[in-house]
Order: sequence, then structure tokens, then C-alpha cells
Amino acid sequence: MSEPLLSSHKAGKAREARKVIPIQPVAAAQGAAAGAQDVEVSLYAAHQKVYPRTVSGPFSNWRWALVWLTQIVFYGLPWLEWGQRQAVLFDLAARRFYLFGLVLYPQDFIYLTGLLVISALSLFLFTALAGRLWCGYACPQTVYTEIFLWIERKVEGDRSARLRLDGAAFSLEKLVKKWFKHLLWLMVALWTGFTFVGYFSPVRELGMDFLQTRMGSWEVFWVLFYGLATYGNAGFMREQVCKYMCPYARFQSAMFDADTMIVSYDETRGEPRGARSRSADPRALALGECVDCTLCVQVCPTGIDIRQGLQYECIGCGACADVCDTVMDKLGYPRGLVRYTTQNGMQHRWSRAQMLRRALRPRVLVYSAILGLVCLAMAFSLAVRTPLKVDVVRDRVALARIVEGGKLENVYRLQVMNATEQTQHYRITARGLPGLVLASDPETRVGPAESRWVAVRLQLPYGSAAAGSHAVHFDVAEVGGTAHVSEKSVFIVPR
Ligand code: SF4
Ligand code: SF4
Repeated sequence: MSEPLLSSHKAGKAREARKVIPIQPVAAAQGAAAGAQDVEVSLYAAHQKVYPRTVSGPFSNWRWALVWLTQIVFYGLPWLEWGQRQAVLFDLAARRFYLFGLVLYPQDFIYLTGLLVISALSLFLFTALAGRLWCGYACPQTVYTEIFLWIERKVEGDRSARLRLDGAAFSLEKLVKKWFKHLLWLMVALWTGFTFVGYFSPVRELGMDFLQTRMGSWEVFWVLFYGLATYGNAGFMREQVCKYMCPYARFQSAMFDADTMIVSYDETRGEPRGARSRSADPRALALGECVDCTLCVQVCPTGIDIRQGLQYECIGCGACADVCDTVMDKLGYPRGLVRYTTQNGMQHRWSRAQMLRRALRPRVLVYSAILGLVCLAMAFSLAVRTPLKVDVVRDRVALARIVEGGKLENVYRLQVMNATEQTQHYRITARGLPGLVLASDPETRVGPAESRWVAVRLQLPYGSAAAGSHAVHFDVAEVGGTAHVSEKSVFIVPR
């Protein structure tokens, strides 16, 4: 088999393949019959565990700030009360979504679409401006990996201690440390799963059900599913999720350009790299400013070497920039050998101000304009939203019938949905045909955030309309209020 495997891989993959994939001449293994050019290459690359070293610095502080912020919101939100109910609740069974004062029905799906469009446009905009900000600071995979790594460090120690422990033979100390770490991981993971389910099922009742061991089977399933997914992804998979599973890493390059801020190694300044004493003059030794300490590799959560250039595995977390600055400080060299910069900035040795001026380029302006318009449209639509929804369903059993008084009658079912927090009274009227009257009770009462099915009968004097299907409208209006909805349907006149 003479597959030109390495040449068909991207640069990053090829590096990995060169490191770990054995290439065995088939000729040697199978005798002279095989061609001397034939090689057999394994597609499988054994996973090499990454042991990120602790790092501190401005980017690390930002990441921890985002960890705190996102987790306070995630774990805290389901416990907030709004009046007599949970402030944020996606009640799938009742088909109602509560967002503080907003009550949404499935008919409000457009707002979810709007939210997704805003999220996607924000992602495009921030990626064009500053690369993988989402990945490096706010993505749940990054956030939970950071939390799980923190636990791991507290129990097993920093990088060298963890490496020693994993390499050590089985012992009671190793067993206790591993067991304790997994116990803590599982507790965090299950609490995360419980919180997740608390967005779909009232969290206080869920907590009581848990304490009384009477949680529903679906709730148990989702707590375990989400919890174990967190445990697996943040505890074991870690950088592999970013490298192999996340689709975003694959299409990010389409959003980058030469003016996108990315974490880069200043090769002109750093090369040729090499160790030297602290007092040595690098120019006298014909060396660059990189002392080849490999700390930037040791802190990298995806285990890559930023000095090899931009790689798709880089999540833009800035850990390498933080640690390199500490090395530069110790040596008395200027900071920023590894820094956030742009390709143009690096190439033309631009100042920060020059790079920032390029931030307002056409691509960014277009993304910003579209994002602003969508946000405005969404805000306007929410502001003028009618807190009343109506669905009309025709009675399929009897399309039309003759009733007392020689009238032709059509029957409908109206679902009236009250999207306010108060009980409302609504008046139903119908129009569209001369002589059309509503023969059922025109008023209905619907409780707060509830919906109600109302049977409605429309009658028409027999012979007053030609045979066929005629458009009619139901008007439902709030009594003493302004909410008003008009829904179309048809009135059938049989031949
Ligand atoms: S941390 Fe800085 S000095 Fe050390 S190897 Fe990386 S780039 Fe070179
Ligand atoms: S190369 Fe640097 S910025 Fe990229 S993932 Fe590794 S540590 Fe983070």
C-alpha cells in the first residue's frame, strides 16, 4: 500500500503524525517482493496526556474572571424567584418558557431564532477582531476544564507532581489521591447536571424530590447524562474535544484575516533560541530572546508549541503569553515575545495604536452593522410584542352542519394563550361574511401564563353564501386592555 499519507494531512496533523506514527518500510517486513517505495503508515496517533503547568498573569486572570462570572450565572440563575415562580424556566411539558417577566410560547420561536442569529454574528465579529476569544475564555469546555484542572492541582499538585504521581507505581497514596480527585470531579459534574435539569424542571421541587429519592426517571437520566458528559469532557477528553470534536476549530480560519488579533510568537525577536545565563548578552552569543525554557509549551492546555506558528489547536487562551512575560521579566528583556498581535502587526512591526486602527475594517463594520440591526429589530419586536397568542383549529369531524333556525354552522377550537402574569378576560368576535354570527359564549377567562381551549361556533343564514370555502377572521381582544390578535380561518358552505 503506497498511500502518500503525510502529504495529504494538514500541517498540524502532519507534525503530530511525524511525532508519533511509526513508518515501517513494507519492503523490510514483506521481503524484496514489495517495492522499496512502499511504506505502511498507521493513521492512529496514541493520545499523549497533557499536564498543563499553573500560570498567572493578565490573561489567566481574565479567564478566571470569566469562569466565576459564567458559573455564578449558570449555577445561580435557576434559584432566582420572579413573583411566585422560578425566574428562568424552560417548561417543556407545559410548552412555556419563562425569562424573568417574559412568558414565551412555542409560537415565539422567532425570538430563539433571533437569539441564535445574534450569537452567530457576535461569534463572527469577535473572531474577526480577536480570534478565538470564545474558546479561550468563555466556552463551557474551557471553563469546566479549568475548574477540573484546579481540583486536580489541589489534590495531586502542579505539573511535575502530577507527572511523578502518574509515573509512580501503585501505592496507597496514589489510590487515595486519585480516588479523592474523582470524587470531587463527580460531585461538581453531578451538581452541574442537576443545575442543568433545574432550567427545565422547577429546581426547588427537583431538590426536594432528590432529597426524598422520588425524582422522575427522565430527570435522573438527564442529571446523569449531563453530569457524566461534564465529567468525561472536562476530566478526561479536555483538549481532545477542542482538537477533534469541536467544529468551530475547523472553520475559524475562514473568519481570520491578517488584522485579526492572535497569540503569536515573535520569531524575529526570539530566534535563534537557546539557553544562556541570566547575565549573558544575547547579542554577544548571537542568540535571540527565547531562552528555550519550554514553559510556553508546558502551560499550554492543548499541548502545542506556539513557536511553530498559528495552529488550529490553539484556543487563544494567552497562557503562553502570560508565562513568557514572567520569563522576560526575570531576564530583564521587554515583555511580549509571545503576545496578542496581528499578522500585519508582526510583519510590519506596527504599534498597538496602528493595529487598533485596522480593527475598524470593512468586514468588522459589516458584522457590527448587521449585528446592531438584528439587536434593534429583536428589541423592537419584544417591546411591541402582544402578550396574547391564539391558534385556531377547525373541527375535523363535522365540517359544516344545519342547526336550529335553518342556519349553517361551523365549529372551531381556539387556543387562547395568556402571556402575562395576571388573569385576563378576552372577547372573541368573528368577521368575514355578511350575516356571520358567533353562537357560543364570546368571553373567556384565562389564568396567568396559562392557555385555554375554547369551543367556538359560527353560524350563517342558510343560502346567504355560495358553496365553497370562505375566509373568516377571529378577533380576540383583551377586555379593558389593548392586547388584540386576529387569526384567519375558513368557513365551509357545503353544496
Ligand atoms: S516561554 Fe518564552 S522564552 Fe520560554 S520557550 Fe517559550 S517563547 Fe521561549
Ligand atoms: S498556544 Fe498559547 S494561546 Fe494557544 S492554546 Fe496554547 S497556551 Fe493557549
